[in-house]
Amino acid sequence: MKNGVMMQYFEWNLPNDGNLWKQLKADARHLHEIGITAVWIPPAYKADEQQDEGYATYDLYDLGEFDQNNTIRTKYGTKQELKEAINELHKYQISVYLDAVMNHKAEGDYTERFMVKEVDPNDRTKDISDEFEIQAWTGYLFKGRGNKYSDFKWHWQHFSGVGFDDAKKRSGIFRVVGENKNWSSGVDSENGNYDFLLCNDLDLDHPEVVAELNRWGIWVSEELNLDGMRLDAIKHMKDTFIKQFLDAVRAKRGKKFYAVGEYWNGDLLTLNNYLEAVDNSVDLFDVPLHFNLYEASVKGKDYDMQNILNNSLSIVHPELGVTFVDNHDSQEGSSLQSQIQDWFKPSAYALIMLMKDGYPCVFYGDYYGITGKKSPHTEIIDSLLDIRRKYAYGEQINYFDHPATVGLVRMGDKDHSGSGLALLISNGEDGHKVMNVGKNRAGEVWYECTGDIKETVTIDADGNGNFLVDGKNLAVWIKK
Ligand code: CA
Repeated sequence: MKNGVMMQYFEWNLPNDGNLWKQLKADARHLHEIGITAVWIPPAYKADEQQDEGYATYDLYDLGEFDQNNTIRTKYGTKQELKEAINELHKYQISVYLDAVMNHKAEGDYTERFMVKEVDPNDRTKDISDEFEIQAWTGYLFKGRGNKYSDFKWHWQHFSGVGFDDAKKRSGIFRVVGENKNWSSGVDSENGNYDFLLCNDLDLDHPEVVAELNRWGIWVSEELNLDGMRLDAIKHMKDTFIKQFLDAVRAKRGKKFYAVGEYWNGDLLTLNNYLEAVDNSVDLFDVPLHFNLYEASVKGKDYDMQNILNNSLSIVHPELGVTFVDNHDSQEGSSLQSQIQDWFKPSAYALIMLMKDGYPCVFYGDYYGITGKKSPHTEIIDSLLDIRRKYAYGEQINYFDHPATVGLVRMGDKDHSGSGLALLISNGEDGHKVMNVGKNRAGEVWYECTGDIKETVTIDADGNGNFLVDGKNLAVWIKK
């Protein structure tokens, strides 16, 4: 699975036409042919309304099967269509990772009354009200599903905070008060304690909640024959919960059951501490690298390219970092907007696909386009996928030694005949760099395989080549 390439198979602005699973099924063979080895699919269960992307989760057991919240299908289709898509992907040895939203639930079916204290949004450890009785949508009936798959019914006791007081029609952050009730430890320290994100926040210190989520994790993995999960919003979730959850699912599905967590924080130390707390049981998206790529794209030639891999999680933890350029949250108009500018995207993809460290993830929006508008990057991503599969092997030698033009060499290995490559990226003028590809390659003629440069390079007796790159572009050199 690793050394492969994951694709995030959705973007934020997909139409609510119930077609994604059908499209994915029809696309399985093509994905295999271009070199995709795993897909991350969006939250596939019933949300608060049909058009929701799935993150306003209502019923984790309703995968587009029951008439609930005025719809059977989800934004993406029905459970049957989802199963068919997964079967088809498996035919082509493509793994499937489901997006798992276990931090919160959207509003329930009826209100309940219980005691809370309002907290300061900027410091959730600070109460800003006395205890009072709230009326909140924390009761869940799942009328359409009944007790099928699980008879668990959620109540206020299963949440640690809510975001809306229905009695006063007022939003806020309201911490549930009672025996053993508090924000969880082991969450991000932003805002004092970042347990609460939105909606009804699940109490991961409640044994019934833990048991129910574990039961669901095992159920959904077996029901859909999943190969892994993408865990949403884990910086808002008790770290030890995640570890025991994965232990529970892997006990049934095998140790190789894959998991990558979304811990949206650009600070390497924070991510390191998290990995330590969960015994490296989960991969993390390389958010620090994403922010480097973003900064480089915004600053243009004023960015010092020697810093592009600084504090990257994948450099420190090559086996645990999932590298990506953009995703549904960073894309323009989304909650964590930090979209890499178009001129730099090909270089950003070249870096994550051809460097040794990290597990690259291609964003649907970058490959297929956003809001139905065709992406300008499809062709270069196809090329890079092909180059990755054929040439990106062996040791890596870095040449991050110039503010505008940086490069790296993959030396190739014995298992992949003819493998090895030289990558150059420039954010300024046309550039060139002498890089060593190994003495054993003396006399070889190399060419630039993305098609931008017509000259060839002959490797000298010491194994050096003087490789070229056009300004504000990338170049990948391989043996002719
Ligand atoms: Ca939480």
